[in-house]
Amino acid sequence: MNCDEFAELVTAFLDDALDSSSRPLFLDHLACCSACAGLYGGFTATITALGELPAPGLSPQTRSRLMTAFQKLRDEV
Ligand SMILES: [Zn+2]
Repeated sequence: MNCDEFAELVTAFLDDALDSSSRPLFLDHLACCSACAGLYGGFTATITALGELPAPGLSPQTRSRLMTAFQKLRDEV
């Protein structure tokens, strides 16, 4: 998995919607890529700041706010 794929899957992961073949790849990348680990940390911090837990699912509004925040973080890396 590369960083772009990670970024595409991060909301699915937070929704607990990753399939069983993607999930270990996602976790592998999270464990070995410090850039994405940092982004993921920013992502979960954003969710906490919004006061919205990832389960059972993100609203479309929250998802788009997160994606915007995530892309902003990526640009700063
Ligand atoms: Zn990465």
